[in-house]
Formats: sequence, C-alpha cells, structure tokens
Amino acid sequence: MSVFEHPEFDSHEHVAFCHDKASGLSAIIAVHNTQLGPALGGCRMWPYGNSNEALNDVLRLSKGMTYKSAMANLKLGGGKSVIIGDPRQHKSKALMQAMGKFVDSLGGQYYTAEDSGISVTDLQTMATQSDYITGVKANYHYNGEKPDGNPAPSTAYGVFVGLKASVQYALNCDLKDVKVAIQGVGHVGYRLAKHLHEHGAKLYVTDIYPEGVQRAVNEFGATPVSPDALYALDVDVIAPCALGASINDETLPQIKAKVIAGAANNQLAREEMGECLRQLGILYAPDYVINAGGVIDIYHQRMTSSNGALRSHIEQIGDTLTSIYERADAQQGATNRIANAIAEERFNYKG
Ligand code: NAD
Repeated sequence: MSVFEHPEFDSHEHVAFCHDKASGLSAIIAVHNTQLGPALGGCRMWPYGNSNEALNDVLRLSKGMTYKSAMANLKLGGGKSVIIGDPRQHKSKALMQAMGKFVDSLGGQYYTAEDSGISVTDLQTMATQSDYITGVKANYHYNGEKPDGNPAPSTAYGVFVGLKASVQYALNCDLKDVKVAIQGVGHVGYRLAKHLHEHGAKLYVTDIYPEGVQRAVNEFGATPVSPDALYALDVDVIAPCALGASINDETLPQIKAKVIAGAANNQLAREEMGECLRQLGILYAPDYVINAGGVIDIYHQRMTSSNGALRSHIEQIGDTLTSIYERADAQQGATNRIANAIAEERFNYKG
C-alpha cells in the first residue's frame, strides 16, 4: 500500500524511511503537523510483523502527539518514530547511533524521546549523533525534587490535577472521602495514589503484579481488588493507569463510577465510546489531555525554565479539562470529540 493512500496518513507533512545496512537499522519517522512548532514524540522499538504494521503504528502515534501538544499549550507539533526489531535481541550501539543520525537528518523538524523498548541509555547513544534527542538530561522537577529525567512524576501530578478538576465538575466536591479505583499501580498509578491519599481520597487498587498492590495497601491504606472486579466497583472515579482500550464493550456496561480520569493512552476501545459514556452520565477526561504532564515536562527540560513554571504549566491541565467539559455540555457532545475539535482549531490556525 502506498503511504499517501494509507488509512492513517491524514495529511502527514513528512514520512521518512531509513535502512542502514551496516547496523541493520530499519526505522520510520512520521511528522504529522508542525504548525505550532517542531514535532516531538517518542521512539518505539517493537518487533513488528511487517513494515506495514510499523507504518500504521507510527502514523497513528504521531497524529496523536499533534493533538496532545496542541491541548497542552506547547509550541510543538506531533511526530513519532519506530524501529523495527526486538529490543531484547536486536539492540546495539551501532543501531542507536544510526537512529541518532536518522533523527538528525530531519534537521530539527522532529525531536525524539523515550517510548516502549527505548531506554535513557539508548537516547544517550542517539544524542552522540544529534542535538534533537530529548530526555537525556533534566534540570527541573515540578515539586523541586532532584530531577532524574523520568517524566512519570509530572504525568502523575497532571493526572491528579485533572482528576480533581473532573470530580469538582461532575460531583461538585473536593477529594475528601471520594472513592477512586486505580487500574495499574506502576510508575504513574503509584504516584497518583500518593497524591490522592494525601488529599483524603479512599483508594481501591488493582494490578497484575501483587507487589505494587501491596505497596499501595501498606502506604495508603488502599483496598486491593482483583483486575476483573475493578470496573464494576461502587466507586466515584475510575482511573485507568495500565494499558489502552480498558473502556470496551465488556467493561462499559459494568461502570458505576461518575468519572473516568486516568493516565493510560487510548483508553477508549473505539472513539464512539465517548458518546456512550456521555449518554450514561459518566464524565470522561480525554486521555491525551489529562496525561500530558510528561510531554510538558520534556518541553520544559529543553528550554530555560524553572520548577515553578513547569508546575504551573502542568496545573493548566485542570482548566483545560474544565473548558472541554463546559463546551461538551453546551454542545451536547462527547468530551473526546470536543477535545479533538479544540486541538484541530489550534493546530490548523494560520494566523
Ligand atoms: P507502568 O508499566 O509503570 O505501569 C503500568 C502498570 O499497569 C504495571 O504495574 C502493570 O503491571 C499494570 N497492568 C498492566 N495490565 C494490567 C491489567 N490488565 N490490570 C491491572 N494492571 C495492569 O507504566 P506507567 O509509566 O505507569 O504508564 C501507565 C499508563 O500511562 C500507560 O498506558 C502509559 O502509556 C501511560 N502514560 C504514561 C506516561 C509516563 O510518563 N509514564 C505518560 C503518558 C501516558
């Protein structure tokens, strides 16, 4: 299939393919839109079955980054890159150097960062070949702690701020005694649980690994729940912080919560589930809006900023969500569709 006819092509500005015989690198960089600034998006290494699967993934992900950056008020566009290969078997220094050269060849149109299969060490190797590699050094932390380059604390803080704004909008209350069920207590979910506990929320947690659950039980008095039982719980909020597509045909009819607000990417199995949630009276925080703390963090690490500026930028997530909810109510529209429309207004603006 040609790139231009690809169902996910959606007017991408630039799609570049690289094959480096010496290192074995096969990679694709997709730049969706640079109207607001250079494209930023992680590099994913994955054993794709064929090049069409890789192309599909990179086009879909880079478009998502355009929407995420626009909604986070960043002067950035959307892009993404993929390396075709198994990160446990095919990684080498030469491969990462070749990827760094490939990123550099776009001359700053695309900045890369960490994604599945790519570590900080890999980025450091790429950075020997290019100035357009982010996530290799960090100067700021939203809370003034020593930064280590991991965006998860900023992501979790953004989700916390967004969840609080969503509860205020839907339930007209603060977080004291509000029941929140968290799916996945990993890097983001654990930190989100800490913020919520400190603000008086009652927590229910699940994970496929018991250690994370036990830690939340010990430290925050959380109630452990089995993964299958989470969506049917009689709680106020569900916070998906594990994998995508957790709101699906099976879980949707079980949901009793009035708010869905969590970190996971691509939470809705299908876009039209946003409308189903609206009709059920469940407020959905669009995933790429509420989980933008990480990309905001990366953006600030690239410029002269401060801990305070990073923090207040993350805190804008609350106001952004509230304005989406108000517009969704006024137009009787699903929050995910309204968020898309606002993002499109921003990145298509030619003023
Ligand atoms: P993570 O891998 O550290 O944590 C995910 C946790 O979910 C793990 O503990 C895992 O065991 C658990 N899990 C997986 N499947 C599960 C299931 N079926 N039921 C219950 N638990 C399950 O990842 P993370 O960095 O915390 O990210 C969480 C989500 O947020 C991901 O979807 C990620 O794409 C998204 N996200 C993360 C960031 C970030 O800064 N880390 C930024 C934006 C979005």
